[in-house]
Amino acid sequence: MSRARKSVLHILLLVIIFVASLHSAVLGSNSLVAIRRADMFHGLVKIIKNYSSLSILQEESNGQENVSHPEQTTMPQASPTPNATKVPTAEPTATAAPTVSETPFPTATPIPEEELKNTILVYFHETDMVRRLNIEEYVLGVLAAEMSDRFELEALKAQAVAIRTNCYYSLEHVKEHKDGAVICTDSSHCQAFSDEDYSSKYVKAVTKTEGIVIKYDGEYISANYFYNSGGYTEDSSNVWGGSGKPYLVAVSSPGEEAFDSYYKEYEFSMKSFAKKSGIKGASYENITDIDRSSSGGINSITINGKKLSGRELRSRLDLRSTKAYFKQGEDGKIIVEVYGYGHGVGMSQCGAQAMALEDASYKTILTHYYTGVKIRSIN
Ligand SMILES: [Zn+2]
Repeated sequence: MSRARKSVLHILLLVIIFVASLHSAVLGSNSLVAIRRADMFHGLVKIIKNYSSLSILQEESNGQENVSHPEQTTMPQASPTPNATKVPTAEPTATAAPTVSETPFPTATPIPEEELKNTILVYFHETDMVRRLNIEEYVLGVLAAEMSDRFELEALKAQAVAIRTNCYYSLEHVKEHKDGAVICTDSSHCQAFSDEDYSSKYVKAVTKTEGIVIKYDGEYISANYFYNSGGYTEDSSNVWGGSGKPYLVAVSSPGEEAFDSYYKEYEFSMKSFAKKSGIKGASYENITDIDRSSSGGINSITINGKKLSGRELRSRLDLRSTKAYFKQGEDGKIIVEVYGYGHGVGMSQCGAQAMALEDASYKTILTHYYTGVKIRSIN
């Protein structure tokens, strides 16, 4: 009730009491009149009270109307179709909901532990989304993204087992990803993933090796792989530093020379060599102190007094690998001969293909590239 209205009621009440008192004074203290006067007084009070409560109700309902303004704007969105289709903002919510429910195991609903055991939270870096996938489904998607289905079935099977092993390894050695995801679809960080229709060859490679993994000393291995080693793979310690892993050591990788990825020649002008390397005055003459691994990859190199690691050199010059050899070209040009494609640690995909073409089984391929490992079933 507003203050003004209250004041008016108070004045009205006082006037009534005043009039009643006057009336009483005129009529004397006759008991009958006193009862009538009291009735009249109570009756008036009742009317005033009713009026007041009515006002309060109105005020409350007015208040509700004010509060309900935002509701009114949301109500059309809540109402089923007509408004939802008119309001563009309602559309993303409408489409977003099914996408969430499309995920095989929405995080909101509790998943039985047995089912959870065979799933993995994957961060899709292209769409900035996290999805829980069945591990075999994940293996299939990565296989389709990481190896051509023109490769031999045994090479594809070896690749599928390596991918699956990385999946279980990642569950035990979680890298930092969005929303608790344990692996991502960025090939430079984890493993790529493809959602496209999978050929029967991919499906076969996955189903034929279902549940098969690689273990070293009873533990899942970090099953690194790359495209082409240029003849010899690398010790992981040479590429990533640290003490390395006993199963990621250099081995020969015959047959890779049959692939285009085996060799590439780069030519830099002195100017572009200096620009790309980020070293002023860089030239063929001031390339010194090249330290190589036994496989041929550059561990470190000094150019015009500045020392770079092999990985830095590869990244700056955008080379296929660190297995780089320098030659002087005409007019101060720098020729770089590069063997292989990729970091060179673990399984060579071209090497796996070469072995499969020679009738090697996927197990033989895996035990060749990962030293001292055992091929096991997770069950
Ligand atoms: Zn990642």
